[in-house]
Amino acid sequence: MSLIVIVDDRVTNRNIFAKLAASIEADVTVRTFGDPEEALTWLAGQAPDLVITDYKMPEMDGAEFIRRFRLLPSSVDVPVVVITVYEERSFRLRALESGATDFLHSPVDHHEFVTRARNLLKLHKHQLLLASRATSLAKELEDSERSRERALRDSSERLAQVIDTLPVMISAAGYDGQLLFVNAYQIAFAGLDQNAIGKPADVLFGDDHGARSHALDRMVFETGKPLPSYEEEIQGRNGETHVFVTTKSPLKDAANAVIGVLTSSLDITARKRTEGHLRHLAHHDPLTDLPNRTLLRERMRRLIARARRGDQPFALHLLDLDGFKSINDLLGHSAGDRFIRAVGERLRGAIRAQDTLARLGGDEFAILQAQVTSTDDAADFARRILETIATTEGFEGTGLRTTASIGIAIHPDDGLDGEDLLKNADLAMYRAKAEQGNFFCFYAADMQARARNDALLDGELRRGLENGEFLLHYQPQVDLASGEIVGAEALLRWNRPGVGIVGPGVFLARAEETGLIVPLNEWVLREACREAKRWQRVGLPPVRVGVNLSPVQFHKRQMPLLVAKVLAETGLEPSRLDLELTESIVVGDFEAVANDLRQLLDLGVHVSIDDFGTGYSSLNYVKKFPVDRLKIDQSFIRNLSTDPNDAAIVRAIITLGHSLDLDVVAEGVETAEQLARLRAEGCDEVQGYYFGRPMSAEDFVALLRSEPLLAASA
Ligand code: C2E
Ligand code: MG
Ligand code: MG
Repeated sequence: MSLIVIVDDRVTNRNIFAKLAASIEADVTVRTFGDPEEALTWLAGQAPDLVITDYKMPEMDGAEFIRRFRLLPSSVDVPVVVITVYEERSFRLRALESGATDFLHSPVDHHEFVTRARNLLKLHKHQLLLASRATSLAKELEDSERSRERALRDSSERLAQVIDTLPVMISAAGYDGQLLFVNAYQIAFAGLDQNAIGKPADVLFGDDHGARSHALDRMVFETGKPLPSYEEEIQGRNGETHVFVTTKSPLKDAANAVIGVLTSSLDITARKRTEGHLRHLAHHDPLTDLPNRTLLRERMRRLIARARRGDQPFALHLLDLDGFKSINDLLGHSAGDRFIRAVGERLRGAIRAQDTLARLGGDEFAILQAQVTSTDDAADFARRILETIATTEGFEGTGLRTTASIGIAIHPDDGLDGEDLLKNADLAMYRAKAEQGNFFCFYAADMQARARNDALLDGELRRGLENGEFLLHYQPQVDLASGEIVGAEALLRWNRPGVGIVGPGVFLARAEETGLIVPLNEWVLREACREAKRWQRVGLPPVRVGVNLSPVQFHKRQMPLLVAKVLAETGLEPSRLDLELTESIVVGDFEAVANDLRQLLDLGVHVSIDDFGTGYSSLNYVKKFPVDRLKIDQSFIRNLSTDPNDAAIVRAIITLGHSLDLDVVAEGVETAEQLARLRAEGCDEVQGYYFGRPMSAEDFVALLRSEPLLAASA
């Protein structure tokens, strides 16, 4: 359907044109106007398809009419044909300027009128069609754009929701340590208001945790690689501590640059509790809930590791009830069980917190008595235990009571490892039984002989120091990255007359006990520094020398002063000296020790914690301790490939050490497999038989001159 409008002041023309227009196509509506003004008023509400107007009209000419028509909103693409006579060229120009589309010459040729009008109509229809296609396309495009945006918004909202509801703490921080993102779970756990983004990560869990997390983040920034996951304890808003396993991985942009570190911590408190429960079951006797043989061995292992280093000796008491079999027969098994439990309770009440009471099975108990200063100590203790059992009130009103026999073995004299101690205490226990029970025996047959031997040894040691019978062996320490020897630990040896070279296990405990350790270790310090200075003078590669300090010496002497003095005397650069201390030095005045250590570090010497991991509170206190190296105890390295617990401890120590900016050294490395593991965990240095046993100074110098001990890693 088309609408054609005709404007002409002459009625004849109007009629002719109207007739012609009506013949153009079937479905045409024609409106004619004599007055342009009237036409414009009408047109304001219409959408015509073609307008034909005369040029010469009395009230308003064609150009003016078109100009005003073009101002109407729906007129834009409407073709307008103007009818003029030939001579009126200037008029035609005006008409064009006003927006005319085409001209017809007057007098009008009818055929031309129809053809022209039909073409213009068709063109207009096309234009309209195109325009509507274009709008619908634009609309479609807009619709799909909008729905894509919605989909995107939906999916990222859904993702955020998922991230917020996961029972995992998820956050991301930038290089400056400021939070880029924190999920709702973490915000709730930390008890924060919503606005943590842009703040330092400390706001989440305090300065300590924040600093550690930031240090680890830096490692990820530097390496661009995720960290192996590690376990940590974090205190939440309500003061409750949870255990998390934490992973840190790099967030990269399109150009593969690290822009942040994503930290996710999975709460494993419940799992830990279950594990703890299982571990408790594995380590305790179900009848009495006392530690079992496994846990006893474990405790001995710790005490032995500590005792290597001047901690006081300890005693193992093996206790067997006398005549329990007949009690069991008399009362029956379940009453027998109750009897055992009652004995366990009595014993539990008789020991101190640092001792360990274990049930080994049947009517056999063991007690580890820590810090035994003399055999009298152990004897008194055994006597007290015997009394405790003998004076127990009659069992459940039956009047039945029992006595016990005790065998005692003392570390290190009666055995260097747990198995030997158990075996020897057992032998001693049988001797006690042979004495009709209610009796205790030491493993060592003759206590007086032992005391005599001690006195002899004390004298020999003193003379040995005067006569220069002591010497140092050196064990290489190898840098895992370069494969080169970077240090040596000085280990004390005694060339004992008539015996030969003996290790510190034989004499260290005595020297500690008598105080001879103080002058002895002063000699060690001086000798080691002198030797290291000699290496430097003869142009060997720069290596550190490690000196073991005894806790006794550390507490008795003003260590920083002594070290400064020896360095001045020997001329050794402070950075070439590494002092090894065990965790046990903190026993006593923590502040005073920390102060001494700080002074030592200020001198420029290195301070290592030796046998790290064998102490009780190691991971916690090392954060506050001014040291710069950790030496992982060899007992953890030994089972590194077979015991997942040890592997986890080693990993934790390395991660913790690095987060505190400490170098980590592993000692007791004996196999290539252990070495590979340590390398994979990122350990810095290694020491052990794999690279070399402790050797004489000459041998060490020869070794230093030779090839690197390890092919450097890529
Ligand atoms: P430490 O400081 O932990 O020294 C490492 C001990 O492990 C040394 O025993 C060393 O020979 C041994 N070792 C090294 N690599 C391996 C290995 O691959 N496998 C095994 N099974 N053992 C390895 P050593 O020389 O008998 O010294 C024992 C302890 O005596 C030392 O333990 C240290 O605590 C103490 N000590 C040694 N020299 C001195 C000293 O001059 N002063 C003081 N106060 N204590 C010393
Ligand atoms: Mg050492
Ligand atoms: Mg050690």
